[in-house]
Amino acid sequence: MPTPTPAYDPNNVFAKILRGEIPAERVCDSKHSFAFYDISPLAPIHVLVIPRGAYTDLHDFLSRASDEEILDFWKLVDKISAEQSLIPSGFRLVSNLGPDGGQEVPHFHVHLLGGRPLGPVLPSNR
Ligand code: AMP
Repeated sequence: MPTPTPAYDPNNVFAKILRGEIPAERVCDSKHSFAFYDISPLAPIHVLVIPRGAYTDLHDFLSRASDEEILDFWKLVDKISAEQSLIPSGFRLVSNLGPDGGQEVPHFHVHLLGGRPLGPVLPSNR
């Protein structure tokens, strides 16, 4: 895995989960990725998937991670969707990036949401 960018905060909550410093409810994991339940679920199924490597957001991940890490990550997302019986009913993937995206935890993650019809992506007020 490459050296973290200077912007990466190694004390963010997901880095602490990866180091085992705080608990998380594991869903499944793989060589380069880890999945756990969101502590404040917004849907009946709300799983967070993160790379083990130190990447701040989607752009950082896709810019610096190896092809092996990137493939591992998306394969794990797909595996979870099947294991949580979200196929064929469907689900939503969300990745918040930066201030406009409302990203709170500066370690790349996707939210995998499902278990009920989720409605529109955002309220219609622009
Ligand atoms: P984001 O706004 O995309 O950065 O989302 C961060 C998510 O992390 C939120 O949905 C939080 O509920 C979730 N979260 C924060 N701390 C924890 C934790 N210790 N375990 C599980 N999920 C967490």
